[in-house]
Amino acid sequence: MPHARRELHFVPITLRPVPLFEKGLTVTQTAALHHLQTLDSAIDAIRARLAEIERLLGEDEALRAAQEAVRAAGDSLQAWKTRQTDLELERGRLKEEADAIEERLYSGRVTNPRELTDMQGKLAELRRRYEQLEEPILEAMLAIEEDTARLNEAQAALQRISSQRASMTGELIAEQANLQARLESLMAQADEARRAVDAANLRLYDNLRQRAGGIAVAVIGAGGECSICGVQITSSLRQQVRRGEVLTCPTCGRILYA
Ligand SMILES: [Zn+2]
Repeated sequence: MPHARRELHFVPITLRPVPLFEKGLTVTQTAALHHLQTLDSAIDAIRARLAEIERLLGEDEALRAAQEAVRAAGDSLQAWKTRQTDLELERGRLKEEADAIEERLYSGRVTNPRELTDMQGKLAELRRRYEQLEEPILEAMLAIEEDTARLNEAQAALQRISSQRASMTGELIAEQANLQARLESLMAQADEARRAVDAANLRLYDNLRQRAGGIAVAVIGAGGECSICGVQITSSLRQQVRRGEVLTCPTCGRILYA
């Protein structure tokens, strides 16, 4: 309460100075209201940050995206590996069949020319099919190489995001506990500060607090302007406010404090 001492100097007897409990000082209603506003604004800021922390702790979009990237790369890699295996099995089967025909063809056991021609045709067809498998097998191998690199990258990113998140979570939880303790202390102080304000003034204050921003008390600045709406406060009004009278800004309607 840096203003308490200065206010005392101006307090006229008619203004019912009220005691500020912990310090045993007496302050004007406007000073008591300003003190209450300071506490309430600090409480509002803490509550806003606590809500933000709650939101951040619940949010895991980046983590989900990283997990999804690992899953997608893993699925694709698995599909290409299966394809490569199938193609190689098929190629092996074609080779076995061709080898068997070739062996018979050159064994001398087959002498019928028509049968020999059929076997040669069959062998040529098997070799053609065998060669046709080269390209898809190569394609699968390249895809496996790419997917393996993609999977490694995705796993590294997931690891990074998980550890970042773990440390951020730890920091947020520590901040949350710290803010909770400060909030409790400020709320107790605000309760006490409310007891220094008359019922009618408290009603005015609480109504004004409902407005956007929760600011009920405006300070008159060094240039004589309302700190909230910026309107120039007349010198006679300023004098009344300095004496401790509870008066409101003619433009924004907030309680003035000098
Ligand atoms: Zn104003």
